[in-house]
Amino acid sequence: MNRNNSDLLFSRALKLMPGGVNSPVRAFKSVGGNPLFIKKAKGAYLYDEDGNQFIDMINSWGPMILGHGHPKITAAVSEAIKDSLSFGAPGKREVEIASMIIEMVPSIDMVRMVNSGTEATLSAIRLARGYTGKDKIIKFEGCYHGHADSFLIAAGSGAATLGVPDSPGVTVGTAADTLTATYNDLQAVKTLVDNNKGNIAAIIIEPVAGNMGCIPPLPGFLKGLREICDKEKILLIFDEVMTGFRLSPGGAQEMFQVTPDLTTLGKIIGGGMPVGAYGGKKEIMENIAPAGPIYQAGTLSGNPVAMAAGIAMLKQLQENPSIYQTLRETTDEITEGLKNILNSFGKDYTLHKCGSMFSLFFTENDVTDFSSAKQSDTALFGQYFLKMLEEGIYLPPSQFEAVFVSTALGKKEINNILKAAKSAFSSVLI
Ligand code: PMP
Repeated sequence: MNRNNSDLLFSRALKLMPGGVNSPVRAFKSVGGNPLFIKKAKGAYLYDEDGNQFIDMINSWGPMILGHGHPKITAAVSEAIKDSLSFGAPGKREVEIASMIIEMVPSIDMVRMVNSGTEATLSAIRLARGYTGKDKIIKFEGCYHGHADSFLIAAGSGAATLGVPDSPGVTVGTAADTLTATYNDLQAVKTLVDNNKGNIAAIIIEPVAGNMGCIPPLPGFLKGLREICDKEKILLIFDEVMTGFRLSPGGAQEMFQVTPDLTTLGKIIGGGMPVGAYGGKKEIMENIAPAGPIYQAGTLSGNPVAMAAGIAMLKQLQENPSIYQTLRETTDEITEGLKNILNSFGKDYTLHKCGSMFSLFFTENDVTDFSSAKQSDTALFGQYFLKMLEEGIYLPPSQFEAVFVSTALGKKEINNILKAAKSAFSSVLI
């Protein structure tokens, strides 16, 4: 594969940007090699600066659920930019997207738009603290909720990939207010709550974990959290930045029939533009400024172009409910195919999937939490990743990130993914 232009750009970028990138996992550090610089994308495919073509299995880490350059979404953006790129004053599209989100996500009565998943989660815990008058939060090891200080404790995603789940720069005081529990371990949560009675504002969780690889909740886990929260007057926050609008129109909360108090959203609601949101019960949300005293703001929040992309995306999901069936079938075909190929090599690696997210863990052990995910052979994953890339398949460059399937993957792409996997496994599984 010719990668001269990407390599040149990366050597320039290294002098100009920390690690040569604007977000850590992109740097390919854990899989080895230099990152590719992407020039354009269309449908199921990415094209790099050297003209190489790849089937995209990241889809911008989730948002491109309909593939790249969907005509309805790009048309909505083109239309919106005619009327200026930003107002800093209320616009009709903000009302429209709010009403769509409230209609689709069961637990949301009111919503506030922000510009990223990180903004959504940090605002949600400030709201939870302000509303309950309590300071501590519980998060789960290996879950990632963005890069705000409170969440960089036993964090997943890039932090786990780079082996820095606890970041320098987070003060001891902030870290002390974040308690961590083991994912899928209800007893661990009960013990933490008992030991910190009356001090916990919120439990925040990825209802289907996607940042230590894809790990679905065990039966009863989410319901059990809801019961603990009800009993102890703790707010339950579902971080649906990945799962929102992906697992079902109403996200994981609809799929698992558990209602959180607050929900954080991102990715798909921007259709690829930088958008996040948080929402929940009216009585809680009305405490946010200017309706209430808990401050949160954003110059570009509710940006008209981003809202136009989000509205067009959500409209597609509302008008074509069969999208979810298609996504599930595509995911099933890929994952069954991978399992069969692995079995033919005598391997029974753990593969978790939920809706259109999945992860192949390079371990035969059961994976239910961060410590079991970490038993995966990450060096072998790295070799597999690089082989797949050579074969034209762009996977997430980390064992601890989920694959995101889009509706743009057709039979041809599925066959090519499986053909590539067969070839990659035959060279790395000796
Ligand atoms: N929460 C979850 C569950 C995420 O997966 C992410 C990002 N992958 C975030 C929050 C942070 O979102 P952003 O990168 O947009 O700040």
